[in-house]
Amino acid sequence: MGLHPADEANNTVSPKRRTKIVISLGPSTDRAKMMSALIDQGIDVARLNMSHGTRDDHRRRAELVRTCAAEKGRAVGLLVDLQGPKIRIGGFAKGPVQLRNGKRFVIDSALGGHDGTEEGVGTSYAALVDDVRNGDRLLLDDGNVVLQVEKIEGSAIVTRVIVGGELSDSKGINKQGGGLSAEALTEKDHEDIRFAAEIQADYVGVSFVRHGADVETARMLLRVAGSDAHVVSKVERREAVDNIEEIIAASDVIMVARGDLGVEIGDAEVPGVQKSLISQSRTQNTVVITATQMMQSMVTSPQPTRAEVSDVANAVLDGTDAVMLSAETAVGRHPVKVVAAVDRVCRAAERHSSVLVSGHRMESRFSSVEETIAMATMYTANHYNVVGILTLTESGVTAKWMSRISSGMPIFGVTRNVDTERRMALYRGVYPVPFDATQLPRGEVNRAVVAELQSLGLVADGDRLIITKGDFSGIEGGTNSMKIVKVGEIAGERD
Ligand code: PGA
Ligand code: MN
Repeated sequence: MGLHPADEANNTVSPKRRTKIVISLGPSTDRAKMMSALIDQGIDVARLNMSHGTRDDHRRRAELVRTCAAEKGRAVGLLVDLQGPKIRIGGFAKGPVQLRNGKRFVIDSALGGHDGTEEGVGTSYAALVDDVRNGDRLLLDDGNVVLQVEKIEGSAIVTRVIVGGELSDSKGINKQGGGLSAEALTEKDHEDIRFAAEIQADYVGVSFVRHGADVETARMLLRVAGSDAHVVSKVERREAVDNIEEIIAASDVIMVARGDLGVEIGDAEVPGVQKSLISQSRTQNTVVITATQMMQSMVTSPQPTRAEVSDVANAVLDGTDAVMLSAETAVGRHPVKVVAAVDRVCRAAERHSSVLVSGHRMESRFSSVEETIAMATMYTANHYNVVGILTLTESGVTAKWMSRISSGMPIFGVTRNVDTERRMALYRGVYPVPFDATQLPRGEVNRAVVAELQSLGLVADGDRLIITKGDFSGIEGGTNSMKIVKVGEIAGERD
């Protein structure tokens, strides 16, 4: 077992939140004053949800984030979240309809997009009829309406209403147990990938991934479009849970997308799946976001419920890198208050002893020099009196490895690349520090970067720090050394 670093470190580093906050942008965040306040409150990544709004809305929002972040000197990542093949019903001729239990209701792709009635409705997804069998249950509007398939007649899926209720235009359709086979990337997603490249998104979210190949396709399309965005795979289908190992291996980031996932696998399964997704992601050196309804009541209420506080805290205890807010910030009444609440809850949960200790991968063999240095660094940091870790990084990968190990140690990711700063903004416990060490004489690097941290008030004379770097600055993936230094007593290096 590791030690509790907080117990013995002479901790002069101000306690910062380790868990990162992703907010969704929307009408509620559109004013410059609001965006500034959100950045001051500590948001780390901003998400453009391509399921809503026009491309002009998204372009304007992206610019607002970039401008406000630059004014404040903060690295805020941009996540473009693709809509994906959310299967939806068409529209109704005369507004919403009431479906009554036991009645017949037809979903038929041959019906027009606005011809729905109490008897039936269209869908733009013609292949739905091939993906369902008699006895299957279809969940509409996130499960608010449940239909059971009775028979197929040509293009018509004839169902019986099991749970009735109001049904309005364009509500989503999920199949209980999963198995809808729509391609993960639609025509609109292809266009939105080009848009993501154009606005230089740092992350791109792929909705409804089924297997590793979907992730590879998205990455390939991004590269073709000229984007080097990292890929976030949203786990929201049963197939994704079944293929999780290859999906994690193919992804930079996993999102526990609890909204659609809960509809497909059942809400009661979600907490257990969340725990295993987070732990598997960390083991496989992948970053993980926990999303949806984390502070849902704060869309209208100025305070979270006890259940929401517990939910956010438990995601932190599970080891998530980031907590995501959706409607709470995009259309909510209290965007700043909700970020403040998440911030407060994360900090308190991060003091719990279970997230300060680590098993340190004692049983595993490491696969690269960088990983080995990262693991040795974390072992040392958790067992010796140091106040933090300073890693000189080009791509951020060493910082990412370090942050896979539970610890209370701040990891200062020092980089000259603004893209790397924005990527690291999502990694738990990693604080991006912009600094170009490549122009300095080799022997002066340690002294200069530590002086930079000191001038930012992050360390003080007498603090011990661990520094990691490679032999040649400016080269990706070359980290091969760790060194323990004392602030104020750093010798110039001869090599
Ligand atoms: P969404 O994804 O908000 O884009 O639907 C998240 C989820 O399904 O939980
Ligand atoms: Mn979803």
